[in-house]
Amino acid sequence: MAQRSARPPGGAQAAGRPGRMLRVPPQAFPAPGSQQRAAAGGRAKVPLKPGRSLMDWIKLTKSGKDLTGLKGRLIEVTEDELAKHNKKEDCWICIRGFVYNVTPYMEYHPGGEDELMKAAGTDGTDLFDQVHRWVNYESMLKECLVGRMAVKPLAAPKEISSALSEEKKPLNGMLPEKKLLGAAAKGITPSYDWFQTDSLITIVIYAKQKDMNAELVIVDCQDNRVRGEIIMDDHSYLVEVDLDHEVQEDIIVKVAEKVGKVEIILKKKDNIHWEILGQPLESCNTFIKRTDRGLFYRKCKLVSKTEVTHDTKLFCLMLPKSTHLHVPAGQHVCLKQIIAGTEVVRPYTPVLPSLPLNFKEPSHHDGAHIYLMIKIYPCGLFTQALDCLQIGDYISVSNPEGNFKKTQVQTTEDLFLLAAGTGFTPMVKLLNFALTEVSCLRTIKLIFFNKTEDDILWRNQLEQLALKDERFEVQFILSQPTKDWMGKQGKISSSLLSEFVKRSREDSKVLICICGPTPFTEQGVQHLRDLGYSQEEIHAFTA
Ligand code: FAD
Ligand code: NAP
Repeated sequence: MAQRSARPPGGAQAAGRPGRMLRVPPQAFPAPGSQQRAAAGGRAKVPLKPGRSLMDWIKLTKSGKDLTGLKGRLIEVTEDELAKHNKKEDCWICIRGFVYNVTPYMEYHPGGEDELMKAAGTDGTDLFDQVHRWVNYESMLKECLVGRMAVKPLAAPKEISSALSEEKKPLNGMLPEKKLLGAAAKGITPSYDWFQTDSLITIVIYAKQKDMNAELVIVDCQDNRVRGEIIMDDHSYLVEVDLDHEVQEDIIVKVAEKVGKVEIILKKKDNIHWEILGQPLESCNTFIKRTDRGLFYRKCKLVSKTEVTHDTKLFCLMLPKSTHLHVPAGQHVCLKQIIAGTEVVRPYTPVLPSLPLNFKEPSHHDGAHIYLMIKIYPCGLFTQALDCLQIGDYISVSNPEGNFKKTQVQTTEDLFLLAAGTGFTPMVKLLNFALTEVSCLRTIKLIFFNKTEDDILWRNQLEQLALKDERFEVQFILSQPTKDWMGKQGKISSSLLSEFVKRSREDSKVLICICGPTPFTEQGVQHLRDLGYSQEEIHAFTA
């Protein structure tokens, strides 16, 4: 093992890989191929021993104990060396070119030791990315960092490996995010240009894709750095420039939907002529897979916090004036807080401020606020800290994530929404979208599973909506009702689903969306498959 200095990854607000921010796992390593099964995150699959919570892990990492066994040395690890560390009592794993000794973490891993062992002595990047690309392992496993891989990364995306000539292959796990990736992947490469007037700077991005819309464009301008990201299917085009002169805080974003042109309009602070736009960052003008782009965060202000039920609150966050961001239906964001000196990240699905009861017109949101409906768990690391935030405090919010596409609903005639607890959150925007914008829609049925009546989120609003719009129906099912409950009782089951999930016509085009605790979602998907629904007819919301 050659000794070598390697800087632990992490730290930057956003970056490509390595060094980008990812999120803390409820369960860091899913079973291979378990994307469909591994659902909503959250509830641990394997009960952890007392004293093995995330907080306990954070404490251990701060204790100064030598967790790598290398007394703080960072080394260069060969594939052969990595392969030797493949036992529970000596387990190294490579993620994105960085090698971690995860032996001390075994007992703290919410997914269990066996899941971690699946990647023992190998490159776990693909396994890790299958579900938990968001997990901020850099921060979590900082004290377990052994060093970097000595040669090329083991799990470089195929398109990268094949696009690079032998001598240009990246060393030490550093993956180049350059233009050739985009061209190789898509055959079309967006581009950008800029021009100015006395008072304005306009950056024009030619996405070269029709059907652009405001949700596909995310722009931030902070500390005189402008960052514009365009989402094109599963790819992302980025313009990122340190501006040559100062600009004002507010920005304007215009999207010419039919021609695929995006304009980012910045207001000059001083009416001077700019010779250049500024210094492009390394990531500028790159067109790569979305999953290879690091999560970008901006700080948002908490402007209100209102009770929804005894344990769930609606948090309203205000985006900075210099941000353009709309979270599409079915997608989530990550929130990030520093807790006990460690970055902790959790995903949350934005909702609307309330259920719009007039679904005649598409509801227009101001675009300046994000509403999150969040259950505060008595022992929840993140939600307890979140609940302590005061109005006016700031919290980091990421770009949208998720694999749900609105096109899945656009041709749906019967939409079934199966939600358990806060698994209701993705259904809110979906309901709104389906009722306002899906012309062929005949029925929407929400089947909402909760423990007790007190746990039902937005019950009144849902009942009102059902009264107002004959296409919409809601069924509440309680698993732990009081004896006064006159409604349906039980848990998700095949018989229950066969009773409620029925096509309105024999040949109806159906979509069934399901979201809740992981086992709920897994069981639901299985029951639906058993009832004869195809994979295309089911969407499970997962991490
Ligand atoms: P942890 O410290 O992780 O857990 C502590 C204890 O709290 C656990 O042992 C358990 O007893 C209990 N607990 C924690 N999480 C869960 C859980 N998920 N299910 C059951 N018991 C639990 N949550 C929302 O409230 N609103 C949302 O909109 C939302 N959107 C999500 C979107 C995605 C894609 C995913 C994967 C999860 C979403 N969650 C949402 C769950 C959220 O990310 C966290 O898991 C949750 O807030 C708990 O975090 P914590 O750190 O407070 O709890
Ligand atoms: P909860 O109150 O604990 O449970 C809601 C209902 O689901 C209850 O009736 C409960 O019955 C039932 N349930 C729980 N576990 C079950 C299981 N193993 N099998 C069958 N039914 C089960 O739920 P919650 O605390 O709000 O949690 C909501 C979950 O949704 C979280 O895990 C969260 O991570 C997830 N979520 C995911 C997303 C996403 O997009 N992926 C978005 C939002 C929320 P019991 O009485 O038996 O417990």
